[in-house]
Amino acid sequence: MSNHRGDAVVLFGASGDLAKKKLFPALYDLTVRGRLGMPVIGVGRSAWDGDDLARYARDSVEAHVDRVGIAFDEEAFCQLIEGMQFVSGGYTDPVMYPRLAEALAGSNCPLMYLAIPPSLFDDVITGLANAGLTNTARVVVEKPFGRDLASAKELNAVLARHVSEDRTFRIDHFLGKEPIQNLLVFRFANSLLEPIWNRNHVDSVQITMAESFGIEGRGSFYDKVGTLRDVVQNHLLEMVVFLAMDAPLSADADALRDEKFRVLKAIRTIDPSTVIRGQFEGYLDEEGVDPGSDTETYVEMTFEIDNWRWAGVPFRVRAGKALKATVTDAVVEFRRPPRLLFASDGETPKPNHLRFEMKPTDVITLAMQAKAPGGALTTQPVELTVSSQEELGEGADAYEQLLDDALDGDPTRFGRQDGVEEQWRIVQNALTNVPPVMTYQRGSWGPSEATNSNWHNFET
Ligand code: NDP
Repeated sequence: MSNHRGDAVVLFGASGDLAKKKLFPALYDLTVRGRLGMPVIGVGRSAWDGDDLARYARDSVEAHVDRVGIAFDEEAFCQLIEGMQFVSGGYTDPVMYPRLAEALAGSNCPLMYLAIPPSLFDDVITGLANAGLTNTARVVVEKPFGRDLASAKELNAVLARHVSEDRTFRIDHFLGKEPIQNLLVFRFANSLLEPIWNRNHVDSVQITMAESFGIEGRGSFYDKVGTLRDVVQNHLLEMVVFLAMDAPLSADADALRDEKFRVLKAIRTIDPSTVIRGQFEGYLDEEGVDPGSDTETYVEMTFEIDNWRWAGVPFRVRAGKALKATVTDAVVEFRRPPRLLFASDGETPKPNHLRFEMKPTDVITLAMQAKAPGGALTTQPVELTVSSQEELGEGADAYEQLLDDALDGDPTRFGRQDGVEEQWRIVQNALTNVPPVMTYQRGSWGPSEATNSNWHNFET
């Protein structure tokens, strides 16, 4: 890891949705914390100048502070837009890149953030390289990283031609989220978990990423992607990895990513016949959706890990839109005790589980059994609960954290080429041999095949 901090931020796609929703707020928050203090340059086809970009940034930041409920810091905002420039031009236009080079004069280590449709990544990387702009730059590539294993490999090859791996930052913003990182810390900072964190004690692991809302006007994007590509290949597999990996040998970025890669290698390629795909009723009428589309808005599958720690323990994941609730969680269910020794009827108590809720709140719950009040030695479930937000406070937003890391040249919270390709290898069969899609009612828990399959029951 090169340890000098970046000295300019170049936003490709600065006029876009991600820039407005996430990137300008993150840059503003970094400025407030005194972590930016460098020029921000927008790039794109829009016929904009620096003032237009500053106005767009102001709209974005004002909406952000309203959403979060904090005061707008005019002084910090003025620092952010000081010297803001916009380089206007097509992404394949060869004169655009020399103009960007001019705008970057004096910068030794710019951060190039590609917040543009993935189909443009190749053109932009090549254009930057031809103008000599990839020699020292760090490059952030947004998700999705490819559409399948072959396209991810192609994209990695394009990047590798011009940008070294230690300067390549593949974003999965889940890796910047506090509760996701807490999976690692909670596991490896508490020695009492390690002896039971294996097939001898764990019965199953269930991961849910459910959204009660639909595709919210993003039909033309979503219809080409679907749930598997949008959140399973990346976010949910990252959660599986954090729950299943061994402890890294050190805090070094590559030590962590080596361990992640090792567990990914052990995950079996998905058998498509075990995948359940669903589509909510009314999806085909959404704007931008092909009326004959079989894109899934719900998917459920089970990952099997062929190693000594996990063989035989199902890691079940499900994700979907227009479901009954918005919730992201991971439930580690332990084996049942053989029988309740004190109960006269030999009742088997419910198994313990450890639940990591990440959305809507960041809460960890350990479900135990305690003695029910009264004369008999019977059980009653009790929950030991800790709310990170209430007890420890809020951390940085994921994009703020990841931008800060990329400016530091720290790839710990980013995908590495081998890991990203393994993630595609694991799900590729379900993309090649696509199982049929079944409709489900909005506000349900997915198609009946899914709801019948005995998921951990949580109240929301
Ligand atoms: P947008 O569709 O808003 O596009 C971003 C910018 O790219 C546009 O403002 C436009 O800038 C340029 N652009 C768009 N389409 C084309 C085209 N066909 N040809 C040339 N330029 C084009 O995308 P988002 O901001 O939503 O997403 C950007 C990246 O971030 C994508 O890779 C996406 O997958 C990823 N992402 C987005 C999320 C989101 O919530 N929006 C969430 C997670 C990842 P101009 O016209 O000025 O050139």
